[in-house]
Amino acid sequence: MKNKQNADDSFHELKRDKVVDFLDGIPDEELLSILGEVFSGRVPYPLEKSNIRSHFLLAIAKSTLINSPGEKSEEVWSQWFLGAIAYPNPLLYTGDNLGPKYGFCQFGVCNNCHTYLASNVKESVCPICGYYVSLT
Ligand SMILES: [Zn+2]
Repeated sequence: MKNKQNADDSFHELKRDKVVDFLDGIPDEELLSILGEVFSGRVPYPLEKSNIRSHFLLAIAKSTLINSPGEKSEEVWSQWFLGAIAYPNPLLYTGDNLGPKYGFCQFGVCNNCHTYLASNVKESVCPICGYYVSLT
């Protein structure tokens, strides 16, 4: 029985490694699309569903280098920007059309829940509240 468990563990690890390699090799827009499908079926707090609304989501944390370090100075970085990755508007981007592969270079704030957002497309859907947003 122990040998079967070890074989199951090895098979699981092999599958896991393949999944990680696959996800690591795809464009950001496809990663968002795949994780969005996974996230749509999951609830972080299923036992408290009646009184807690919760979602999994993909986010970006970004900080910009403010000065180049010299011999006498250290690097100075801006505050962190945390943005939820908004999904492309499904009315405009259908099927395999995930929008341009420019990375998540469109930014804005959801007018409904006030979350900072980033996306690869201007016309998006807030991953928190589902509100349609126009990013710039
Ligand atoms: Zn929102």
